[in-house]
Formats: sequence, structure tokens, C-alpha cells
Amino acid sequence: MADEIYLNKPDALFAAIKKEKNGGKVMVAQLAPAVRVSLGEEFGRAPGEDLTSKCVGLLRSLGFDHVVDTPLGADINIYEEVDEILSALERGDDDYFPVFNSCCIGWRLYCKNKHPELYRLVSPIASPHMVAGSAAKHILAKKLGVPVPRICMVGIMPCVLKKYETQERMPSGEKYVDYVLSTQELAAWAKAEGKGLMDADGAFTPLLPDSTKNGVIFGATGGIVEALLTSLACKLGESPQKIRFRGDEQVKHLCVQMGKYKLNVVSIYGVSNLDKVLGEIRHGVKYHFVEVMNCPYGCVGGPGQPLPATEEKYRARAHGLRAAADRKPVKCPIAGKGIAGIYDTLGIEPGSGEARKLFYFNGTKI
Ligand code: SF4
Repeated sequence: MADEIYLNKPDALFAAIKKEKNGGKVMVAQLAPAVRVSLGEEFGRAPGEDLTSKCVGLLRSLGFDHVVDTPLGADINIYEEVDEILSALERGDDDYFPVFNSCCIGWRLYCKNKHPELYRLVSPIASPHMVAGSAAKHILAKKLGVPVPRICMVGIMPCVLKKYETQERMPSGEKYVDYVLSTQELAAWAKAEGKGLMDADGAFTPLLPDSTKNGVIFGATGGIVEALLTSLACKLGESPQKIRFRGDEQVKHLCVQMGKYKLNVVSIYGVSNLDKVLGEIRHGVKYHFVEVMNCPYGCVGGPGQPLPATEEKYRARAHGLRAAADRKPVKCPIAGKGIAGIYDTLGIEPGSGEARKLFYFNGTKI
């Protein structure tokens, strides 16, 4: 069903989601980081205001049985990425670098069409949206004692392109995510149902652990690089506090010594800026990690976000999201016990064949 309607009009999506609920599915929504600092604009609030608990309360009032935090998928993504990158560094595999991020669907589509020669360098780890979908489906199935196919996952995303990810399947045949609603579509649904954003507070399901600062910061430019470097620092026993990568520049560089490795990274938003970095690479600059986000200031400037879009709104959302990330008690998935607990509950090891089935791309990578 979801295949046929993934790009359909919102009304068809709302009807399909209601039909799943009426059919006895356990309904789960996941909330992308950028949505919590932008949905309020549709209800007269300021851009950048962190309304996480209000967003969760609204989703519960719309009939979702559980709400999970997409940043958990970002935390797992980084948990896996750190091991992949350290392993490549240890074996001196220069051909593995630079690694490009996989979390932006706009970038992956652009890469596949315009730069197919780079496609092998895009991280094999699935996007946080897909990883959170898979992790939540499997953990909830275990804890609730229901089969995975009885769980319906709806991504609440700042991005209409994320609807393409509802086509991706795990080797089991299950989808990572069944439906996607953009920020604008969620607001339209709530208004049609007569719900206000500020009506109720809610909390993410206690059946999954809390996400970390690193997971939340993914939604603003530079966030993936900061999450990766601070997680690498944790893994190597160094202080993660010294690494911040917070500017709003369209192209942002950092070279940092970490243990015995000197790491060179760059973040970009707007694929037109990619050419500058590709030119540097052609002239011999060696990067270890390249973050490419299609939209201005990262996902906070996504195409599913409230309109009209302005530079001031993008900036306010990015700064609001970074502040929300900094309020998280656990800063890094390597430091806390929550993400390790997900692997324990599922009975799998990071990087194992089972982890690859659940948390890596198993299909088209677009
Ligand atoms: S940067 Fe834009 S295109 Fe890329 S995932 Fe975020 S919202 Fe979507």
C-alpha cells in the first residue's frame, strides 16, 4: 500500500495511516530533529523554539501508540561509522577515504546521478531515519511481544525527499519506514483534526533509550562532523568537549589531531558548493570525511519545512537545534549506555552481519 501512495496528496496519506491503525497495527511515529524547532511556526510560535514535548504530545493525540526520537538512529549511525572509519585508519586503507555522509537523501540522489564515481564512497550505513525505523520496530516487537510486520512506522521529516526511503527494505523484506509526513503535512493534519500544537505535552516511549547530543545535532549544518569527531574522541579515550563545529558557513573545514591520526574534515551545504571541495580533492587535498547536506543550514532548511523560508528562519532553527542538543544529558553515544543497550536487547554486535541487515543499506542506497 505505502509504495503506491508515498508521493500522493496528504489526504491520501492521512487516510492510509488511519487505515493501518484501524487494521490493528501498532502505530509508531519518529520525530526528526529539525521538526521540533520548526513545527511551532505553523502554530504562531517563533522559529528555533524547542517544542519537542509538544510535538510528541500532538503525535500521541493523533493516535500514535509510541513516539521515538529519530536522533537515536543518528546515534546508531555514528556508533557504526566510528568503527568503520577507525578500522580503515588502522589498516592504512587510503582508498576508503574520503567517506561521504549517507544521511541526506538529496545528496545521495545528486551523487548517484551527477557523480556516480563518488557513489562507492558514500557511507554504507543507512540514514538516521531508516536506522531509527529499523531499531524501533525490532526493539518494540521484542518488548511488546508482537511480530515486526504488525508495527507501522511513520517518519515525521523536514524533507519531502525522505518519502523515497519508504521504498527501502531490509533483507527480511520489512521496510525500515512505512510512511513519511513532512513538517507541513503534520501541521495540516493536526489542523484538520482540530488539534493545537500547544494542547498537550508528551514523552518519547520509555521502551527505547534517550538519544544523545550527537544524535540531535545532526539536523543542523556541521552536526554530522561534530558527532563523528566527538564520538571518535570518546572511542580513543580523549576529551570530546574540545571539539565543536558550530559555524553557519556554507563550507567549513577542520583539521584535528586525534590520537595518532590527523583528521581532515569538511562540511558543505548546498550541492553547488560541492564542486569547490571536489576541486580541492582533485588537486590532492586529502579529506577523511565530507558532510554534504542539500539544504540551507542542513535539514532545518528542508523542503518540507514551514513556509515562507527565510535566511533568518534557517539560522534561528539551526541555533535552536544546537541549544536543544546541548541540553541532552548524554553527549555521545559511545559515552552513554543507551545505544549499547539497543545492541544488547537485539542480541547483536556493532558491525556484525546482523547489524548490517538492520542498520545498513540493503537495497538501492537512494
Ligand atoms: S538536507 Fe534537505 S534534502 Fe537532505 S535530508 Fe535534510 S531536508 Fe532532506
